[in-house]
Amino acid sequence: MLAALADKEFDVVSDTKYADRLASCRRCPSLQYGSTCMHCGCIVEIRAKLGDKGCPHPAGSRWTGADAAAGAEIAIASKQTI
Ligand code: SF4
Repeated sequence: MLAALADKEFDVVSDTKYADRLASCRRCPSLQYGSTCMHCGCIVEIRAKLGDKGCPHPAGSRWTGADAAAGAEIAIASKQTI
């Protein structure tokens, strides 16, 4: 399995954004065993590094920092199109 992954390219986030995401996960009550998101079952150290992933919390993303700024821009854009 690892050999198959070695040939793939992944969109990854910057170190700063990765640290912001992990800090949010560490404060989140949905983090189980210090490693796993109870909503998606992902290991957060991996999910947080992938650029095409978001926080799956049902009440809305708990990732802050750069992700929150991007989310706010999307929300504003959505309101403008309605
Ligand atoms: S809900 Fe979001 S912030 Fe909480 S553990 Fe899962 S990915 Fe991290």
